[in-house]
Amino acid sequence: STVLVTGANGFLALHIVKQLLEQGYMVRGTVRSSSKGEWIKNKFANFGDKFEYSVVEDITEEGAFDEAIRGVDAVLHTASPVPENFVGTYESAKSIVKSLQSSHTVKRVVFTSSFTAVWGPHPLGYTYSESDWNDTASKLIKEKPHELPGSMLYFAAKTDSEREFWKFYEEHKDQLAWDLVTLTPPYIFGPVLQDGPNSSTNTIWKKAFKENPADQVGQHAGFWIDVRDCAHAHLLSLQKEQAGGERFLITGGAFTWQDVYNELQSLHIPEIPKGVEDKDVLDIPNTSKATTKLGLTYHTLGESVRDTIVALQERGNNK
Ligand code: NDP
Repeated sequence: STVLVTGANGFLALHIVKQLLEQGYMVRGTVRSSSKGEWIKNKFANFGDKFEYSVVEDITEEGAFDEAIRGVDAVLHTASPVPENFVGTYESAKSIVKSLQSSHTVKRVVFTSSFTAVWGPHPLGYTYSESDWNDTASKLIKEKPHELPGSMLYFAAKTDSEREFWKFYEEHKDQLAWDLVTLTPPYIFGPVLQDGPNSSTNTIWKKAFKENPADQVGQHAGFWIDVRDCAHAHLLSLQKEQAGGERFLITGGAFTWQDVYNELQSLHIPEIPKGVEDKDVLDIPNTSKATTKLGLTYHTLGESVRDTIVALQERGNNK
């Protein structure tokens, strides 16, 4: 069967494309230019003509995806402006939902949401689950749209996009040929398949080694997932019948930057700080639903952060 992956040249999407091809799927990727499409084709040349691309220059335009979704069996909507330039996230969700309304071939749609659509100001030690929604940023944005920092706008955009998908799905599911799955990954670590600079993984490098949060290394920094596991979760979401109509919290666990530094010491890189051993209480993610319904398993934090740094070093892309 044929799967559409939007934003196919992205950090996460390339891993999804790779895993789909390895499992024998036909893949159609949307990209913003034919040069990006040709680059992917070339990268996966050993899979013959199993990868094709469709140029969608502006994903926010109404009807942008009409051509791209024609004839596909499933859609993985991962494209989103990240992390600082978020404009268009919500509009693209609206656009693809509209294009999907009349599709007769698509059986499943998987939307890559974010843990930012889950997170909320809770006391440390809180147990997050699929029933949590972060509506704080969305509310603030309606009150003072021009005064909020970029991160808040990104949070709001991801929450509103995921809500848009669910709202449409709940209202129309009796007439739709497809069902919906949403995934809410937190910080994505792991090796990069792109050649060029990558904003997502560089953010992690910058955060850990440039901003060097030395006085807060033991504090709860958030949750993480390895990009290979996140991609795998997208494939499982396509394949598991029982995933239809479900939202999944997917994470390898909570982390502090101290945990990351500890895991990286064996690489013997001088820039990697030792930090201090102090440790906060961590929030607890309840990921049992993804474990039981998807059968998802995870790399360890050590494997994930070491592979990230090694991959960035190999590309000279660690500054
Ligand atoms: P990348 O920045 O690596 O890739 C984003 C993709 O979206 C690229 O293909 C990019 O195209 C495309 N894109 C961005 N803006 C536009 C636009 N205005 N029009 C058309 N295409 C656009 O992102 P990631 O792989 O890191 O993220 C993938 C998904 O995962 C996103 O939905 C993100 O919100 C989510 N996510 C990511 C996390 C992370 O830590 N990275 C954490 C949680 C969720 P181009 O290359 O041409 O710019």
